[in-house]
This record gives sequence, structure tokens and C-alpha cells, in this order.
Amino acid sequence: MHLLKFVNLKNQPHRQTHNLEATKSIVLDIVGAGNPQRIFCEVRKSARSRRINLKLKRADFALLTFPRRMSWQMAEKFLHDHKDWLCRKSLEFPKPISLAKYFLEGGRICLSHQMIEREVKVVESVETDRPWIRLENDRISIHVSAGDQKEAMIKEGGRKLASQFLPSWVQWAEERTGLKAGRVRIGDQATRWGSCSHRGTVSLNWRIILLPRDLGSYVIFHELAHLEQMNHSEKFWQKLEGFVPNARSVDRKLTKEGKVIFSLGRTE
Ligand SMILES: [Zn+2]
Repeated sequence: MHLLKFVNLKNQPHRQTHNLEATKSIVLDIVGAGNPQRIFCEVRKSARSRRINLKLKRADFALLTFPRRMSWQMAEKFLHDHKDWLCRKSLEFPKPISLAKYFLEGGRICLSHQMIEREVKVVESVETDRPWIRLENDRISIHVSAGDQKEAMIKEGGRKLASQFLPSWVQWAEERTGLKAGRVRIGDQATRWGSCSHRGTVSLNWRIILLPRDLGSYVIFHELAHLEQMNHSEKFWQKLEGFVPNARSVDRKLTKEGKVIFSLGRTE
């Protein structure tokens, strides 16, 4: 049996956005079977949501969305009733591993649709407080200092590469679709590959460069399609199918393969 405690229930005024969304953060401490777990839950009341929906996005992060007609109490009860399910699901997720180990075991980086996926060598040598990167034909070396900062520096190196190369990957996709993003931003979003704002800003996760090439392109096409359809309606999927055949099945593949990528470098 698992015990579930609600700790750190934040009751500040909820964040309000244009479509009357409000969110609350809840930390679930699940104690049991020699396997204590902490799961961060974002509980979101949404004008767009038709029914209650609980998803575990990472081993330690769940998202619960529920429609406006439901109360916060009902939503929290729903969360509570699904504690065993959350716990079980959480154990199915890949264990977080470091980026250093991932690259050592063959993890690759792809910088654009026109480039090959390259192996990555992490070089611990220089006395440096910033990572530096060398691009070779079939390899990328990320030079970092040894010690505590190593993992953070590898991640910083990855972000740097993404900031440098993702904008031209987007441009490549823009030319093929005739759609144009206003701005491109690169971030380290916890569970999202990308998003698109009403102003046309496309935000992309730096981890896209860790995906196989076709999946990386898929994320970019997906966000560009949102410039015309700000939802996941049938129209949206039709638009996206024009750029990526079998978009829905590619999307499922992304969810599946993305789990490992999202768990990387979160070992602390
Ligand atoms: Zn979308």
C-alpha cells in the first residue's frame, strides 16, 4: 500500500491567463514499498478542457487538467484516488541518467534536417568555467571541466548548440511550409517540446537536437502548423499531415522516445 501526503499545498492566488486558466502546484510524497517517491503535480483548471485528465509526463511530474464546471476539491480528490496508478506509472519511466553517461553510451546530436546525427564526445580537460564545442565531420566534442560542474556544463553546451542551430532548422521548415514564425526562442522546458504563442513566437526545447532527425523536424513542423491553428483540432492535423505524412503516429513515437530524452541530465 502506498501512503500519499499532500505537502506544500500552495494556496496563493491562482495564475490567471486569457482563457481563464488557473493552476496550482501540489507535491505528492508517496511513501511505500521501500520506494519513496516525490511527484510534482500541476493541477490546471482550463476553459478548454472538456473532462478531467491526468497524465504523468515524467517519472516525477504529473499534469492534471479539469473543466471549469468542476471544483478544486473534486480535482484534488481525483488526484488522490489515482495515487496507486501514478505510482505504478512512475516506475515504468526510464530512470534519470546523466548526459555524460548518455553520450558515452552512444547518444547522438543532430543539428538540422540537412545534417547527420553525430556522436558526441565529452572531453574533460581544460580549466574552464564555460563549455566550448568543436564540430567535426561526424563528431561533436564538448569540452568541460571535471568535477561538480561537469553535468551542468554539458547541458549548457547542448543549449548553446541548440541556440546556434535550431533557428536555421526552423528557417528550413518555414521555406517548405510557407509559414513564418515571429520569433524563435530556445529553452529547457520540463516536459514540452515546443509551444507557439498568439503573437507567433515559437518556443523550442533545446533537447530537440537530441532527438532522431525526423522527430526533430516533426516538432518544428508541429509548432509552425500552430501558427495557423492554435489547437489540436482536425484542421490542425490536416495541416500538419501536409508537411509530415502520418503525423499522428509520428507524434506517438515522439511521446514514446521523448521520455528518455526528457529524463536526461536531471539526476540530482
Ligand atoms: Zn501542439
